[in-house]
Amino acid sequence: MIFYSTTAPGLEDVAAEELKELGCRIKEERKGKGRVFFEAEIEDIPKLNCFSRCSERIVLLLGRFKVEKLEDVYKAVKSIDFSFIKPEQSFAIRANRVGEHGFTSIDIAREAGQAVIDRYKEDFGVRLRVNLDEPDVIIRCDLVDDDFVVGVDTTGDEALHKRNYRIYQHPAPLNPTIASSLVRLSGWSHNYSLLDPMCGSGTILIEAGMIAKNIPVCKFRENYAYKKLFKLPEPEWEEKDVELKLYGMEKFKKHVEGARKIAEYVGIPVTYIQGDARKLDEYFDSIDFIVTNPPYGLRIARKGIIEDLYSKFLESASKVLEKKLVMITAEKNIARHYAEKFFEIKEERNVMYGGLNCSVFVLE
Ligand code: SAM
Repeated sequence: MIFYSTTAPGLEDVAAEELKELGCRIKEERKGKGRVFFEAEIEDIPKLNCFSRCSERIVLLLGRFKVEKLEDVYKAVKSIDFSFIKPEQSFAIRANRVGEHGFTSIDIAREAGQAVIDRYKEDFGVRLRVNLDEPDVIIRCDLVDDDFVVGVDTTGDEALHKRNYRIYQHPAPLNPTIASSLVRLSGWSHNYSLLDPMCGSGTILIEAGMIAKNIPVCKFRENYAYKKLFKLPEPEWEEKDVELKLYGMEKFKKHVEGARKIAEYVGIPVTYIQGDARKLDEYFDSIDFIVTNPPYGLRIARKGIIEDLYSKFLESASKVLEKKLVMITAEKNIARHYAEKFFEIKEERNVMYGGLNCSVFVLE
């Protein structure tokens, strides 16, 4: 069967690598479009939803079409066999649209919804119920330019980044799927020390710990859509007993305390320090990997202090770093300027995050 996973645009290859490790055969990475198409079995759905840390959704592909006009949407959806939906089940269309079109995503949802109803009535003589709030079956209709993809959402309305471990709410927490992707990009493994010097509530460190200890995403989620669709057992998993060298530093005491609570809740041992990332070398002699999501000067700090923070942080990091530093920021120019000064830039990639055009830097 063909599936697709949705990711933050720019991190498709990272999600694809993870899917490969989970036994999937990658068909296509739509770079910059946040889609990875792959082959897997129906039985893999629970495993993919539990262990894909870098994907937002796992969708079973029903059809892929070229669409230019709104009428094409109806025709495309009408051509799909919906016999997997039981007559008593309700459905909802969730439509997404990227690119220039003479119609909206609401138009797509309306046309597609009608097509599902008409096709099911023709095949089974039953008018399927629409339930927009709590559907049994979610049909995704994604139009990116003229590429129209229709699929059954196995994850649900709550995407996989929704991991319910945030018992402390930071004002600008990092999306956990991006946090996991950054950890993967760094190449960190549990034999090495990992520091997030501006850790906020510690998402990056929690995700790193969950990877190392083999704690699945599903430990902190319940409402998977696939459970209403297929009778499939949850995957078996065993937590790994590994020693971790995870360190988090944060300027504000309340975030440090919040981060400690989350780490304890998830069961990840992290050493948290209240401190200043501009003086890393005063706290550490040597750190193998640094992965961080510093303030961008938008929501948290003012623009003026960003340059001071980035320059001093990168300079002090260069004195203690042994292997790699990965950072995500919307302040690309400032970050690039100081990254070049103190490190070798191994990679800079564009990642769309929270409506912002960010850069992920990999430094050595
Ligand atoms: N990734 C975090 C999470 O998921 O919760 C959010 C990080 S937030 C974008 C950036 C953090 O850097 C904020 O919590 C802020 O207080 C902290 N920060 C700002 N300046 C700092 C400094 N000089 N030293 C340490 N932390 C700092």
